[in-house]
This record gives sequence, C-alpha cells and structure tokens, in this order.
Amino acid sequence: MPAKRDYYEVLGVGKNATNEEIKKAFRKLAFKHHPDHNREDGAEDKFKEVNEAYEVLSDPDKRAVYDHYGHGGTEGVFGRGFEDFGFGGFGDIFDAFFGGMSTTTRQAPRRGADLHYKTAITFEEATFGCEKEIEILRTEYCSLCQGIGCKPGSQPSRCPNCNGTGEVRQARQTIFGRFSNTITCPQCHGEGRIITEPCPHCRGTGMEKRQRSILVRIPAGVDDGSQMRLSGEGEAGLKGGSSGNLYITLSVLPHEFFIRDGDNILYELPINFAQAALGAEVEVPTLDGKTKLKIPSGSQTGKVFRLKAQGIPRLHRSGRGDQLVTLFVVTPESLTKEQRRLFQELANSLSPAKKRPEKP
Ligand SMILES: [Zn+2]
Ligand SMILES: [Zn+2]
Repeated sequence: MPAKRDYYEVLGVGKNATNEEIKKAFRKLAFKHHPDHNREDGAEDKFKEVNEAYEVLSDPDKRAVYDHYGHGGTEGVFGRGFEDFGFGGFGDIFDAFFGGMSTTTRQAPRRGADLHYKTAITFEEATFGCEKEIEILRTEYCSLCQGIGCKPGSQPSRCPNCNGTGEVRQARQTIFGRFSNTITCPQCHGEGRIITEPCPHCRGTGMEKRQRSILVRIPAGVDDGSQMRLSGEGEAGLKGGSSGNLYITLSVLPHEFFIRDGDNILYELPINFAQAALGAEVEVPTLDGKTKLKIPSGSQTGKVFRLKAQGIPRLHRSGRGDQLVTLFVVTPESLTKEQRRLFQELANSLSPAKKRPEKP
C-alpha cells in the first residue's frame, strides 16, 4: 500500500485553513472525483481519500489529534480506518451526499405470505391420525383474469412514460451541481406496461380473496401444539413469486380418562378391597378396546402394570409407547348391614396394618 498522503495535502489547503476553507476545498474535490461522472481509473480511491481527509479535518477534536500525531494518531486514538468513519462504506457515502441516486427498483417477484391456522382434534384422532377439512381464507390469483389484471379480451399496453423500459432519467440539482440519474418509472412502477382496461373482478390487482377447504392428513402420534406445514398452500406470490406455506397448529382435546405422557398413556384403575386382597381378573380400557388384566392377590394402591405397545404410535417412526395402569384401591363409602357384619368379622381376625413397603 502506498504511504498515506497528508490530509491537508489531499484537500489542497494550508495547515491553518479555516473550517470554511476546508469545507469549500472538500466540496470542489468531492465533485471532481465523484464516480458518478468521473470514470477515470482511481477516481473512486481519490474520492475516498478526500472524504477521509475531510472527515478528520472537519472535526476539531480529530483535527487536533491529527495535527499532533499524524495518521498514526487518528488511527491510534480513534482506532478505526476509513470504512468506519461514520459511513458504512462507499455506497453509504454515495447515498449520504447524493440522496440515493442510483436506485432503479423494478418490482421483483415476491413470495406469498404464510398463513397460520389452528384446529382441534380428539385424543383418538391424535393417536391414530386422521384427515381433517379446514376452512381457510387466502389471497389467490383472480379467477377472471388469471392474475394478469386486465379485463378479459384486453391486453396491457406499453407504458407511454418510459416507453416500456420501466425506467426514466431524472435531473437533480445538488450542492455539487446538476446530476442526472435513472429512477423507476412512477407511472408503471417499473413494469413497463400499464393496464388500460382493468379486470372488473379484481379491479386490476390480479388477486382476490377466496375461501378454501383444505384437506389435512394428520399423521398418527401428533401431540398438543404439534405444527404441520402444507407447502405452497399459503397466499399467492406477487409478480410470479411462489406461494407461501400454510401452517396448522393442532390442539388435542383431553381424553375422558387417559392422560398422555410422551408416547405412553397413563390410566388409573379403581379396584375394591376384595379384589386387592384376593386378586382378580379385570377389564381395562385401552385405545384399541378393552383388554383383560390379572391383578395378583395382595396388590396395593399405586402398583403399576405395563401394557406393552398399547400407548401412542411414535410420530413418523414405527412402534408404540405403553399404557401404564396404576391401581387405586377404593374404600367403600357405604355398607349394607351384611357387609358391615362381614367386615367386623374380618376386623377381628386381621392383625393391625404395618407400614407399607417402599415400593408396591
Ligand atoms: Zn382479475
Ligand atoms: Zn413506465
């Protein structure tokens, strides 16, 4: 890299130049080297050099440091090179001084917006999967003009303002003089064509809102809060852009007596004193219907039985969770005369209860 030129030298002013003289010199040089009209090699570098010099010399603090320590001083003290001098780089300088003159923005294709919907399903539907019709409202291409925006039978015509190019040249007066630049045609917004006979259905927008019924295939094993994505089922894109997605968040209604725990199902089975003491074979509901469960004699409240693969199918995988059946011994709340007599008889022969073992 060549040695840095002295900032005063760059601006062509003396060490004792006033702020006004510095500003004047800067404007003259910035104009001279501005790449908008100076196509010479190195014009951009010169323009940067001039800006850097001005950035330091126009600030009394930075100028004082520079006067004392030279380039090393400003870099050491301020710790930054040209790129950080309040500008983000060349493009920003360009915009800061000339007000964003090189902007021709023809409307680009734009992807349609995503849509978000919620739907409620039952516990069983979440377990085994289902198909749901959901009603949505979305923007689609106009059904009459197919998105073109013209009355059927008519055509868009060439924009007379820009002669179909979508751009027009514009002259601007700035502090550096007169500039001409290209802007997006304000009449056709860069399209190059205008609609003279708009479609009566969409009033020329090419779009319309439509109510749609969408069939959603919900896989087995989804859970409350699961989200599904239906690609391309969102709003239509603009200017040929792709459609957005449709996102559906599922809320699973609670089951009458099953509780979901991951892929497992929890179920509390009530039994009476006699069943607990003598053992029994009882019916247990599962997601697939009733099944028989053998309870050994002497079973306690809290004992857990595992019904293998009777739980929730694993989402997008094979296999199922288990159903965990927890025993709950129910004390009778009212007794017949005969039952009371039998319990009394039993009470006389039973020894006092001991502390239950830690694990039932
Ligand atoms: Zn239309
Ligand atoms: Zn135009």
